[in-house]
Amino acid sequence: MSNKLLKIKNLHTKIEDKEILKGLDLEVNKGEIHVIMGPNGAGKSTLAYTLMGHPKYKTVDGEIEFDGENINELKADERGQKGIFLSFQYPEEIPGVTVEDFLRTAKSSVTGKRQMVMKFKKVLKEKMDLLDIKEEYASRYLNQGFSGGEKKKNEMLQMAVLEPKLAILDETDSGLDVDAIKTVAKGVKELKNDENSIIVITHYNKILEYLKPDYVHILLDGKIVESGDINLANEIDDKGYETVKAKYSR
Ligand code: ADP
Ligand code: MG
Repeated sequence: MSNKLLKIKNLHTKIEDKEILKGLDLEVNKGEIHVIMGPNGAGKSTLAYTLMGHPKYKTVDGEIEFDGENINELKADERGQKGIFLSFQYPEEIPGVTVEDFLRTAKSSVTGKRQMVMKFKKVLKEKMDLLDIKEEYASRYLNQGFSGGEKKKNEMLQMAVLEPKLAILDETDSGLDVDAIKTVAKGVKELKNDENSIIVITHYNKILEYLKPDYVHILLDGKIVESGDINLANEIDDKGYETVKAKYSR
């Protein structure tokens, strides 16, 4: 059996009429953690949204193969059901919807099975214990008065409950403090097994010390231009993106 989970070949993506991804290649095996770094505007979030099947991001060329199947034509909810998860922060508060309600609905929608209240409570409790989240958190209203760190915990809890095959974490938040970084690292550590994979998008080097990724990739102007290990990230940390930019700009 193949160990390959995700294979992206020559991916070209457009937003409206603007080409953002320009021939991106990436392969991810089961059991691996990949980090994607790159300067602002390189197309990192575009890659995340494209993988998730956001309707605004149009794949105009290339192929996305997930778990042995071409998913180019699948809609976001279908990709979710196949086990692709994109973590993002719900910016607005949702009055009257608790964390538990929200997660139960999400789990029902991804699995296509109604989640029974008591049974789900138990699963949720287990995951919260794993992530060191206090019990009363489940009954708080989603994002109402949540600190940045609590929102981050919510994302990790969501990931733990949904148990995706591929989790994509787009760490756009420039205010990620050490506690939030530790929350992410913990979430990743708890989710990770031999059957799933995690892609972390970040421009923070700090997070890598905790994550211990198998691969680090540099995304520049819509393509992955270099791949390596944590040393590549350290190099970028030392020298910035200028050297890489100079090398690959035409
Ligand atoms: P990154 O996450 O690496 O900072 P993005 O994927 O967000 O980069 O953006 C890549 C390019 O796509 C940028 O030039 C940005 O202006 C453009 N872009 C991103 N989202 C949109 C959008 N919704 N509409 C139009 N242009 C966009
Ligand atoms: Mg981004």
